[in-house]
Amino acid sequence: MQARCNFCGSALCGQKYKIEHPYSHFDIYECPDCKLLFQNPLPDKKSLLKMYQEDYYTGSSSFSYEDERKAFPAYSKVWKKRVLKLKKNLKTQALKPKILDIGSSFGGLLENALGAGFDPYGIEISDYSRQYSETLLGKGKVFPDLKEASFQDSFFDAVSMIEVIEHLDNPSESLEEVYRILKKGGVFLIQTANMEGLQAKKLKEKYHYFLPGHLYYFSRQNLREKLFKIGFQKIKFFHPVEFGLLPKLQKSKAGFHSCKDYWKWKNIISYHLKSLFHWNDFCLTSSMAVYAWK
Ligand SMILES: [Zn+2]
Repeated sequence: MQARCNFCGSALCGQKYKIEHPYSHFDIYECPDCKLLFQNPLPDKKSLLKMYQEDYYTGSSSFSYEDERKAFPAYSKVWKKRVLKLKKNLKTQALKPKILDIGSSFGGLLENALGAGFDPYGIEISDYSRQYSETLLGKGKVFPDLKEASFQDSFFDAVSMIEVIEHLDNPSESLEEVYRILKKGGVFLIQTANMEGLQAKKLKEKYHYFLPGHLYYFSRQNLREKLFKIGFQKIKFFHPVEFGLLPKLQKSKAGFHSCKDYWKWKNIISYHLKSLFHWNDFCLTSSMAVYAWK
């Protein structure tokens, strides 16, 4: 099926990989101009909604994510760092800055944001996790769809999209919407894989990021270009992420069952150190976080 690039509009996209995931096979196309990678054809809205029901969090579906509620204190080590860093990087002047977490899941990051003095809001497609997050944040704070939430222009001081942009069926439209609802001087955090990093380049179709629910795949270059084109004023990249190693080690303990599991820290530490090695757009690993200021 012929498809246009969601970022630059090129009509010359062609097949790059055939992914044979244990439960679903799909084709990955590449834009010859901006190198955006994407699933073609894209799943329809109905199948997307079906993907994020209860079984998405219990590990019983073909494509799943952990139920963060099992380890809120350990995960909070990372969430707390992230919200405090966002707060430090605001160039807006609000007594109680408003934050929107897109893909807010069970509301863990937002609960930490509340503790850090933010007024928290969320977007979550899954009824299952959204309903739980409402018990933490109250009614009227978490919405199922970004566009349909119809926030006012320049409403938020901070917006986060942590491992979410790759799940969206129209990332270009969502980025423009974030720009519209962000205040001047507000900061936007994105975390996703950098497909031009050496790790992804070397592994090709074997790269673990190719998953049924991941519809688009980005790079430092095409994300930077897109964000500037939309109007963001300043962009900063972090590798592997915008926070240090310690919270990551503390978070990983949530999955440890015996003393032997501490050996896993060796891999986490070596990956972290490897990720720090980058020269302009050349990166050894494919982890990145982006700060974009309006
Ligand atoms: Zn393109």
